[in-house]
Amino acid sequence: MKFEELNIESCVLSSLKNIGFEEPTQIQAETIPLIKDGHDVIGQSQTGSGKTAAFGIPLVEKTEKGSGIQALVLSPTRELSIQTAKELEKFSSKKGLFVQTIYGGVGFEPQLRGLKKAEIIVGTPGRVLDHIRRGNMDLKNIKVFVLDEADKMIDMGFAEDIDDIEKGMPEDKQNLLFCATMPERLDRMKRRFTKNAKDIRTKIKVDESMLKQFYCNADRKSKFSLLVHLVKQENPELAMIFCNSRRETDMIAKNLKNQNIDAVAIHGGLTQARRERVLNDFHEGKVKVVVATDVASRGLDIKNVSHIFNYNIPKDAESFANRIGRTARAGEEGKAISMLSREDHDSFRRIVNEFSYDIKKLEIENLKMLPFDTGRRNDGPRGRGGPRRGFGSRSSGGSRGGRRRSGSSVPRDSSKFKPKW
Ligand code: ADP
Ligand code: MG
Repeated sequence: MKFEELNIESCVLSSLKNIGFEEPTQIQAETIPLIKDGHDVIGQSQTGSGKTAAFGIPLVEKTEKGSGIQALVLSPTRELSIQTAKELEKFSSKKGLFVQTIYGGVGFEPQLRGLKKAEIIVGTPGRVLDHIRRGNMDLKNIKVFVLDEADKMIDMGFAEDIDDIEKGMPEDKQNLLFCATMPERLDRMKRRFTKNAKDIRTKIKVDESMLKQFYCNADRKSKFSLLVHLVKQENPELAMIFCNSRRETDMIAKNLKNQNIDAVAIHGGLTQARRERVLNDFHEGKVKVVVATDVASRGLDIKNVSHIFNYNIPKDAESFANRIGRTARAGEEGKAISMLSREDHDSFRRIVNEFSYDIKKLEIENLKMLPFDTGRRNDGPRGRGGPRRGFGSRSSGGSRGGRRRSGSSVPRDSSKFKPKW
């Protein structure tokens, strides 16, 4: 599909051409027509998928030169505000709209001068509210109100400021809410700020013909043995093993070495130089197995990974998608294996439901138990081990002790739950 097919105003279209935007991304193709039609829209898609243009293009179309402030975009940080404003300036270069950024840590005066001629405001909630309270900013002609990275704004404690900002805007404005993840804590914000919104969520793109996903069950004390078993069985070209903490990452790497598997840990606690060295070795194939945290993997350009092992499951779906997105790139085949012990089941179920992944069960037989050095004295299996039944078996979890939250072992929305396993 081309941008031309979205019936975009010709001067905006020509600005898009100038910056090399030819085809809309999925979130853009799905939300731009709805926003043009005047709907409130809630849009979710992964980082880097083009959400700015998804709301930015129709926002620029709807804004008229010389008619005062007509659009307000709230954004969690100064950096994001600047980035978004730049993008909006590009979309509106032919239209000549004035975009003013508003964020703290700098003087009020230059912003005030900008506000007098601006048609579009992009800013952080705190400083925007400061300007409103000083009477510097009139929002009564706002036509489009955007909450960008709404999840992050909530996490940063901006909910109340946003409430107060919104009070000064007309009832009938159009409301758009965009974010990379859609956690439950956004529900209030969605109810409060949108009306009959169209809810668009794009699936993380995984080429399921190239990426095969599997899961297998393990109780906690046999998980490491299972990992070694899988790594030896798969004999990967290059593998990444993901853990949820730095400490675990170090421990797994060390124990893999004890099993003669040459593994290196990489996490945010290492110096930048050290991380780069590990990655170089990995790229050059000197190290075949890297044990990583999510943070370490984010933003790093790691290619040609043949296998992803999830030693445990991250809480949020985006991290999971980032993990498995490390493999099956550029037409190469890849395999992702998720290892589930009891504490992983809730997160795993949510992630599978959210993305409708096709994940097959791997049965493991004759697992050889291996020693695991935790670096503590009195080594050995800890905890009670939990039930033997794993994910997907009908009575997994059961109701032992009666203290488990309802829904922790039974999917909340059973209609969406596809019991492939
Ligand atoms: P998100 O907000 O979803 O994280 P951005 O809006 O920041 O993503 O876009 C990510 C990058 O992709 C930016 O550099 C942007 O200019 C570019 N981009 C967005 N849409 C398109 C498109 N249709 N064609 C080409 N590049 C695009
Ligand atoms: Mg963005």
